[in-house]
Amino acid sequence: MQFFDVIIVGGGPCGLAAGIEATKAGLSHLILDMGSLTESIRQYPRRMRFFSTAENIEIGGLPFPISGVKAGRDEALQYYRKAAAYFHLNFKLFQEVWDVQKNEDLFTVTTTTGDQYQARKVIMATGYFTRPRWLNIPGEDLPHVSHYYDEPFKYSFTNVVIIGASNSAVEAALELYRHDVNITVVHRGEDFRSTVKYWLVPDVKNRVKEGRIKTVFDSVVTQIDDTNVTINNLKTGEESHLPADFVLVLTGYIPDAELLRRCGIELDPATQVPVYNKETFETTVPGLYVCGTVMAGIYTEKVFIENGREHAQAIIDHIVGREVHQVKELIQRI
Ligand SMILES: Cc1cc2nc3c(=O)[nH]c(=O)nc-3n(C[C@H](O)[C@H](O)[C@H](O)COP(=O)(O)OP(=O)(O)OC[C@H]3O[C@@H](n4cnc5c(N)ncnc54)[C@H](O)[C@@H]3O)c2cc1C
Repeated sequence: MQFFDVIIVGGGPCGLAAGIEATKAGLSHLILDMGSLTESIRQYPRRMRFFSTAENIEIGGLPFPISGVKAGRDEALQYYRKAAAYFHLNFKLFQEVWDVQKNEDLFTVTTTTGDQYQARKVIMATGYFTRPRWLNIPGEDLPHVSHYYDEPFKYSFTNVVIIGASNSAVEAALELYRHDVNITVVHRGEDFRSTVKYWLVPDVKNRVKEGRIKTVFDSVVTQIDDTNVTINNLKTGEESHLPADFVLVLTGYIPDAELLRRCGIELDPATQVPVYNKETFETTVPGLYVCGTVMAGIYTEKVFIENGREHAQAIIDHIVGREVHQVKELIQRI
C-alpha cells in the first residue's frame, strides 16, 4: 500500500492549494479526485465568468494573468491545470474516495474500487458541486431532466422549465432567453432569491416584465413527465401543467454529509456544518481536516475559492507545527 504524509481528497482549487502548501512544506502528498482535475469547474456552464477577479482565485501565489479582469471557465481550467503541473502535484483522477479510517496514527483511504492508500494526515476538500439537491419528485431522473446547466444551443426553440430562483437559475434563464428558448422559471418563493448577484437583478426583472422570461412563483413542481411538468400553487393549492422539453433543476448543491460521517467527522445535524477547529480546520478526528467549500454545510454561498483557498495554509501550518496562518473573518463565522 502506498504511503504519503498527506492525502487530499478532492482536486478542486482548495484541494490543489492544499497540495501546493504540502509540497512547499516538504511533505509527500497524493490528491484523489472522483472526476477530472477541477471537476466542479469543468461542470460549470461553459460560458460562465467568475464573479471574483482573477487574482482572488489564484492559488499557491502563482499569478493568474488574463487579458480582462475576471476569468471565464476555460481560463480557470487552464490556470489550475498549469498550477498543478508547475508545482508537480501528485494526483490520481477518477478515483472516488468511499471511506477514510484511522487506525492508531495512520489513516487508510479506501476508494470505491477498493484501492487503498495510507497517510499520516488526511484533508477532505470534496466541495459540494458533485451533490445536487434533489427534489425527490417523480420523473426527476428522466433523461431530459438535469441538475446542471451547460450551454444554451442544445435548448434553442424548445420549452425549458427551470426550477429554482438563485444565481444559477437566473444566469441560465438569461442565457437561454437570449438563445430563443421559451423559458419558465418555477420557484417556491414569491420572487427571485435575495442572494442573486445585484448586477443580474435589473436584467432578469426587465425580461420578466416584458414577458420574455415567464415566472411561476409561490409554486412547486410535483411531477415531471416526458412532455410536461405538474405544478402546485402553494397559496391556492391549484394544480396546473406546463409543457417542458427540458427541465433544469437548479436548486443548489450540498456537501456529501454521508461521506464525512462515514469518515468519523461530526456534523451539526441542522446545518450539516462539520465540527472543526476554527483556526486549524482539524475535525474531531485528530489529523483529519476539512478544507474549502466542504465545510459550508447548507451555507454553500459562504465559502468559495476566494476564502476557501486560505484554509490550505492554515492546515499545513498545523500539520508541520508552525504558527497557524489566520484566515479571514468570513470563514470564522461558519
Ligand atoms: C457557477 C459558479 C460560479 C462561481 N464563481 C465563483 C467566483 O467567482 N469566485 C469564487 O471564489 N468562487 C466561485 N464559485 C464557487 C467555487 O467555484 C467553489 O467554491 C470552488 O470550486 C470550491 O473549491 P473546492 O476545492 O472547495 O471544491 P470543488 O471545486 O467543488 O472541488 C471538490 C472536488 O472534490 C471531488 N470530490 C468530491 N467527492 C469526492 C470523493 N468522494 N472522492 C474523490 N473526490 C471527490 C470533486 O470531483 C471535485 O473535483 C462559483 C461556483 C459556481 C457553481
